[in-house]
Amino acid sequence: MFKYRDEQTAKKILAAIKDMGVKGRFMHICGTHQDTIVRFGLKPLMDDVGIEVHQGPGCPVCVTTSKEIADAITLARNGVTIAAFGDMMRVPTTIGSLFDAKTDGADVRIVYSVEDAVKMAHEQSGPLVFVGVGFETTAPSTGVPLQKGHLPENFSIYSCHRYTAPCVEALLNMGESKIDGFIMPGHVAVVTGTEPFNYFSEKYNLPQVVCGFEPLDMLMSCYMLCKQIHEGRAEVENEYSRVVRPQGNDKARKIMDDTFYAVDTKWRGFPVIKKSGMALRPEFEQYDATKVHEDILRKTPDVEEEASGCNCGSVLRGLIDSEQCPMFGKGCKPTSPMGPCMVSAEGNCNIAYRFRGKL
Ligand code: SF4
Repeated sequence: MFKYRDEQTAKKILAAIKDMGVKGRFMHICGTHQDTIVRFGLKPLMDDVGIEVHQGPGCPVCVTTSKEIADAITLARNGVTIAAFGDMMRVPTTIGSLFDAKTDGADVRIVYSVEDAVKMAHEQSGPLVFVGVGFETTAPSTGVPLQKGHLPENFSIYSCHRYTAPCVEALLNMGESKIDGFIMPGHVAVVTGTEPFNYFSEKYNLPQVVCGFEPLDMLMSCYMLCKQIHEGRAEVENEYSRVVRPQGNDKARKIMDDTFYAVDTKWRGFPVIKKSGMALRPEFEQYDATKVHEDILRKTPDVEEEASGCNCGSVLRGLIDSEQCPMFGKGCKPTSPMGPCMVSAEGNCNIAYRFRGKL
């Protein structure tokens, strides 16, 4: 049996948590962590030992605002080819979705990487915009073609990339929900290292564990958080040491730092968060869609942040579970989503719907 899914080891970890007698409400910020919790039926096991784990703003498509998606739709409806990840296509806004724009004849294409988009731009004469979405995990890959150079003149990037740390701090400062510890995303830490998280433990007296993506990673991270609480410690520990190095990945971080700079940015469900967005550096202005297509983007109509009745903002702040939204499974399903949390495979509502019965 795959060693990170071993049932006997899981039982031992859960027993050790129970023995400690620590009750905790933890948050993670990663759709893959949520998928692991729900897919492998960990939630009832955690409940049994007094541990709650909730998903916060960890789905990149979900935290992308309706305004950003409306910008992409507006570009598409004004003759610009849009290349975006599949999860972006069906996110509804009050002016429709990218999929609706495509249905109406706009040139909207699904890509799996920025390289796909660059290749498409080479093969056409009209303008093409790649919509870059994601945290530190994906931002370096968006930066690679810019750093390599020799891009076609008709290619540009609309960056929706975001830094995770400022949002974690915003969440802590908002103080809406009790958070006894953070389960930090291992794939972000692969790039950033563990150092950027130290600050939260020191300032907010917050235990944190960098966590991998298998069931035993999740349970072990809960154990490590409980142990910190039990021993009165608040520090960053690395459960995912088989992959994450404390110093991170210098090469990926340099690409990210050489490509983007931090700007104040709105997140869905949050106010504007200081220095949380990744904008293209001025030296890449000719590839920055917000500059290249400034005139078209002025035409983007005002859009509501959420469809009426959608509670994605509360889900993203960890205030409610998806099943507590009155629309869950009724007005809102993956086939008729009211918000991005039901669209994206990393969205809390989508995961809860796909694996309902395991919760
Ligand atoms: Fe929004 Fe649907 Fe999730 Fe409710 S179930 S929060 S309506 S996406």
